[in-house]
Amino acid sequence: MITVGKMKDVTSPSNPLVKGIKALSLKKNRDREGVFLAEGQKLVADALESGWDVKTLVYAKSLLDDEHQRPRIENLAATVRARGGDILTVNEKILSSITRRDNPQMVVAVIGQRTRQAEEIAPEANHVWIALDRVRDPGNLGTIIRTADALGAKGIILVGETTDPFGLEAVRATMGSLFHVPLIQASVPQFQSLAMRWRDVHNGQVVGTHLKGAVDHRSIDYSCGPQLLLMGNEQQGLGDDLVRCCDQLALIAMSGSADSLNLAVATGIMVFEARRHAL
Ligand code: SAM
Repeated sequence: MITVGKMKDVTSPSNPLVKGIKALSLKKNRDREGVFLAEGQKLVADALESGWDVKTLVYAKSLLDDEHQRPRIENLAATVRARGGDILTVNEKILSSITRRDNPQMVVAVIGQRTRQAEEIAPEANHVWIALDRVRDPGNLGTIIRTADALGAKGIILVGETTDPFGLEAVRATMGSLFHVPLIQASVPQFQSLAMRWRDVHNGQVVGTHLKGAVDHRSIDYSCGPQLLLMGNEQQGLGDDLVRCCDQLALIAMSGSADSLNLAVATGIMVFEARRHAL
């Protein structure tokens, strides 16, 4: 028997279901429920295609009046229901209040969070992973997840207290790549033991990036086993406890008067260079 989720039409912003979804703008509520919000048809389709658990699909009822949109949204809704998710049809005012935007996306979904443990990582010789030390800016994190996906990095390790990858701003910036790139949350001690394992068990290399780095990032041999690229915090750079985990400290040469590169840009440059060698 196919399990079918419930369908409901809601018109009042004070409906408890709507209030519950709006409450997901706060991290404590997302974590308690183990869910997050994703906006837009493409993102929801990406989530379903990648096997993520769409618990509730919310969409503007007006989409059903559009002959192009109607079959698409009905298809999406049918897939969600067949997998046991619920459907809420609402008006645009409610969508605005959920997404806190004047011109909201017409489709929003409540999706189950998914992260993995550091112990699950089993890197192979040509794999490149990214580790981020206390990344603070959700736009940077989302952009890095998107860049990792585009350049073929195998996953991202979030070290220490970081911005929430499941916050609305970070999810928006991933443009759907969140559903394709494994995320691991690790404390500093967990990362330190992963770095040891990376070297001793997997014969890989941990490359930190630092403004005081001694090695030009282009002169590093990235073909010597799996590569773990470690990036520092936006304000404070790479913490000393993590610097000690690194086999090499790379500097991306700069020629202008800027003090440093933006974290997401520096990560893109490092992943591109490492992947170029590892391919
Ligand atoms: N004020 C910080 C500092 O002193 O390190 C700047 C941090 S920077 C905005 C954020 C991170 O991007 C750095 O910790 C490093 O990982 C990376 N990064 C930025 N520019 C870099 C460069 N030219 N060479 C190596 N890494 C760089």
